[in-house]
Amino acid sequence: MIHDPVAVSPWRRPATIPADLVRAPARGAVDLAVIGAGFQGLSAALQAARRGLSVQVIEAASLGEGASGLNGGQVIPGLKFDPEALVAMLGPEQGARLTEFSAGTADAVFDLISNEKLAVPHCRTGWIQAAHTETAMAAAAQRNRQWRAHGADVTLLNQAEIALLTGAKGYKGGWLDRRAGTIDPLAFVFELARLAVDQGVGIVLNQRVTSLRRDDGSWRVTMAGGGEVRAAKVLVATNAYSEALVPGLAQSLVWLHSFQIATAPLPASLDDIILPHGQAVSDSRRILIYFRKSPDNRLVLGGRGPMRVPTGPQDWQHLERALTRLYPVLQGLPIERRWFGRVAVTADFLPHLHEPQPGLLMVAGCQGRGIGLMTALGTPLADYIAGGDPRLLPLPVSPIRPIPLHRFRRVGVAARIAWFRMLDRLER
Ligand SMILES: Cc1cc2nc3c(=O)[nH]c(=O)nc-3n(C[C@H](O)[C@H](O)[C@H](O)COP(=O)(O)OP(=O)(O)OC[C@H]3O[C@@H](n4cnc5c(N)ncnc54)[C@H](O)[C@@H]3O)c2cc1C
Repeated sequence: MIHDPVAVSPWRRPATIPADLVRAPARGAVDLAVIGAGFQGLSAALQAARRGLSVQVIEAASLGEGASGLNGGQVIPGLKFDPEALVAMLGPEQGARLTEFSAGTADAVFDLISNEKLAVPHCRTGWIQAAHTETAMAAAAQRNRQWRAHGADVTLLNQAEIALLTGAKGYKGGWLDRRAGTIDPLAFVFELARLAVDQGVGIVLNQRVTSLRRDDGSWRVTMAGGGEVRAAKVLVATNAYSEALVPGLAQSLVWLHSFQIATAPLPASLDDIILPHGQAVSDSRRILIYFRKSPDNRLVLGGRGPMRVPTGPQDWQHLERALTRLYPVLQGLPIERRWFGRVAVTADFLPHLHEPQPGLLMVAGCQGRGIGLMTALGTPLADYIAGGDPRLLPLPVSPIRPIPLHRFRRVGVAARIAWFRMLDRLER
């Protein structure tokens, strides 16, 4: 049963996929080679082609098999840190630039969907950060104050309001960010790919890039089958699925598994009770739970899973328990879908942009919030690749810093997750 995660997720490809979307063989010489066809790779490829560059995307798997086709589809602006923390971490200028950029990342997704009339099921009624303790409510109040000062359409929710908006048990209140919303992420991957192909981008699938070599003033990009592309510049958009292609990149990240379940379609009698307005929710627990309704009216709920590859439905049981704790009314409703994917986390919980050699670029580390971020980054990345000023990039270009004792890091993270889960249980 386990696994073709794309096949078991509730997300759907658009009904019509142009035949030439993924058929073309890789071209010999281009301005830009993009490795990885997720939101980062496809968005940057599209924007680079719109700036007149010739672009070849090379993807090791099929479309949507990375995190971009598997995620929860919650399009949330901002980063893990609020504006004041970003300024404290990065200084006034860089912190303000990143705040402003991150504030608009959900707009980048929804504007693309509406301007290009993409066949992507979506709903833009906001994201709720649900507070499970008074301490979390106080943090929500801080967040609300900071984002309101930036003119964001956000508001605090009291206990009665959050109960009405979610139908879930046990939350003290929360924070509603109306800039956010939900999409079908797999449909968005396919539509981004279609747009890119329409713009002249070549996309080749099921071709793993095995080496990158600088030679004679350009990059030689070699694929597992022996094929080769020459490119003036390369974007390595492999993120949580990075392996040995770029020295140190995989070791600068810890990837975690995020697991999800989807129920059978909800009965119509619950339409006005469970998420009646279609908001996305993540909660304030240390090991957070996130949920939403899918376009075909299933409740989709996700959270951390084991660090190893799952072996059977028992590996999703903690999510089933969370589901019935939040929604006792769903006890007995079958769980029809179970899937998982990789999330890349960095040591400082910020995304990182690297250029270890001139013309070799990469962004990694979305901390589970990459739909808006990676889609929006396509524009400044393409500007820079097309010859733009690096000072206009929203993220500083930083050296790749492998995490010390990286091999043991995942064991440490697994232990920390178990400890945090126990603390969360005590606060219930
Ligand atoms: C289960 C889950 C739930 C999530 N939920 C959310 C959410 O609700 N909201 C949100 O904003 N974010 C969420 N995320 C995070 C989000 O999905 C990612 O941040 C985002 O998709 C990253 O996009 P990307 O293009 O950088 O990477 P990916 O989409 O992972 O693409 C990387 C691609 O590189 C390819 N690749 C790797 N190595 C090679 C190679 N050598 N040669 C060629 N190709 C290669 C891979 O096959 C893959 O397709 C979630 C992630 C997961 C896993």
